[in-house]
Amino acid sequence: MTRDTHDEARELITLAGARDLSDAQQSWLHAHLEECAGCRDYAEAAGRVVAALRSVPLAADSRLVRATQMRVRFHASRLRETRERLWLVGMACLGVGLSATLTVPLLWRLFAWMGAWAGVSSWVWQAGFTFFWIAPALVVSALLLARGTHLTNNGEKQWR
Ligand SMILES: [Zn+2]
Repeated sequence: MTRDTHDEARELITLAGARDLSDAQQSWLHAHLEECAGCRDYAEAAGRVVAALRSVPLAADSRLVRATQMRVRFHASRLRETRERLWLVGMACLGVGLSATLTVPLLWRLFAWMGAWAGVSSWVWQAGFTFFWIAPALVVSALLLARGTHLTNNGEKQWR
């Protein structure tokens, strides 16, 4: 067997990794590999390389897909948390605003009456009114913060 025959065989082996060989090429290569140990070793090594090359992109793809899925799910949960918190803030603001609109005129009159009845100067009952009016908003803010922290903790637990 000449050197050219082995070279041709190895060229076909290399080509086989990239594209299908013709029937004639396949049967010729098969016959050659049966009687040539050197080219058989080469074919085995080439096969391993091709298999390795094929497995690498697949592994990278599934890892990438999993990482992407996780990232998408993480952002979705973050978005949901933010939306829930915004909804709570909105509802709280609406509640505070409504109650303030309804109660402020009444409270103002009540404090003015109490100030006049106690005989204190107007800034005293006005300060009292301000504190009384701000206190519920402070309580609501504190509750809202606690609820917001609670939501965040729940969301993070899923990722631990
Ligand atoms: Zn050979």
